[in-house]
Amino acid sequence: MNRTSKLFWPVIVTPKDAVVKSTEITSRSQKLMLELGLIKSSNNGTFQILPLAQKALDKCIALVNKHMTAIDAQKISLPVLTSSGLWKKTGRLDQGVGEFYLVKDRHGKEHLLSPTHEEAVTSMLASAAPISYKQLPLRLYQIGPKFRDELKTRFGLLRAKEFIMKDLYTFDRNLEEAQKTYEEVSEAYLSFFKKLDVPFVKVVASTGIMGGSVSHEYHFVSRTGEDRIFQCEACTYSSNEEASGEIRKCPKCQSSIEETRGIEIGHTFLLQDKYSKPLGATFLQANGKPQNLSMGCYGIGISRLLAASLEVKSTENELRWPKLLAPFDVCIISAKEGSKEQNASYSYEEELFNKLTKICDQDDIILDDRRHLTIGKRLMESKRMGYPVIVVIGSKILQSPPLVELYIDGQGRDVELNEVLREVNAYVMSKTQLMNEENSGDSNFNRILSYKQ
Ligand SMILES: [Zn+2]
Repeated sequence: MNRTSKLFWPVIVTPKDAVVKSTEITSRSQKLMLELGLIKSSNNGTFQILPLAQKALDKCIALVNKHMTAIDAQKISLPVLTSSGLWKKTGRLDQGVGEFYLVKDRHGKEHLLSPTHEEAVTSMLASAAPISYKQLPLRLYQIGPKFRDELKTRFGLLRAKEFIMKDLYTFDRNLEEAQKTYEEVSEAYLSFFKKLDVPFVKVVASTGIMGGSVSHEYHFVSRTGEDRIFQCEACTYSSNEEASGEIRKCPKCQSSIEETRGIEIGHTFLLQDKYSKPLGATFLQANGKPQNLSMGCYGIGISRLLAASLEVKSTENELRWPKLLAPFDVCIISAKEGSKEQNASYSYEEELFNKLTKICDQDDIILDDRRHLTIGKRLMESKRMGYPVIVVIGSKILQSPPLVELYIDGQGRDVELNEVLREVNAYVMSKTQLMNEENSGDSNFNRILSYKQ
């Protein structure tokens, strides 16, 4: 059972009369996540992820796994350390050396704390080569830490030196097949991002240091976003700053372009043989001859996505979660110790908890059992935490029939037990519906654009 009294939850309490010093905290999500005990800074550009945020991340990872499994991607784990020799072979070591963490082992061999894994996964394929054309398409992904020595870390998890990424690598027999894979993965991305219920856009991007021929970025639309996005007023064309340069007219339909801002949360590349060729990753064709694998790579910034969704959805003082990522769905607050409603409240709490566990996952319920605190204080904190459903079992529990306060998305009213159960059930159903929503062909893209702020 989840109890607030046992939670490692170091909330930062700033005294009301405290003079707030100028600070590095410059984004809403960073401020709320730090203040509400979701993350802590380790003071070197990295962050400790605490239980509430970890729970949300785990939910995000489960959702990503589901979407990767749906396109037959197989999950693996590659080492954090990649030999820098591999990066020399692909010519990338010199291109971003300032941003890389290079470490030497006791034998003087140099490794990268990997910022990405194209070299590592491609060399793995090369060492297993040649695989048969019958094994293709092959899709391998992992979820784990990545490292980038940012010149300036900012906005908490939005730009940290260590972050959690989902990276998928795909291998096909030729460009045509790789393009089909690219389309299929793109569909999975749209389906995944739609489930987060945060306004987003897919934009044409430049391939940059990653190389290859085709690239798209996925952005949450946010006024505080660091990236400039250009969207056509008339058609579905959108691009990022690098890809569009100084264009003022849509290259597809000549309509005018409008600018918005975004936080990048996903990036996809059609790489072709950019890595398979220098690293010798081949497969055997039907005629028995070896051929370079045609590759794609597809990232989602998992820890960044969590912060970005909070950045977009939250108010200045209260967190708001994507339904499928909230660490808990229901928070129950019972009476303060020593109050006259104490006994009635505690037995109601037990009954409510037992009934709720038949409707929703026990792990999605948290009891705020800090009974030495007033209901008011605990309610305020729960609202700031953005728990979707809050049930307060206060003095009206002594009335006939007994009433509790039910808060949904911050709006409260007095209700009887059955109404609480009905509302929680409706909430759980809405989650299930969101989870099972399928892509509906060509209408997707228009729906995404209609999310524009
Ligand atoms: Zn256009």
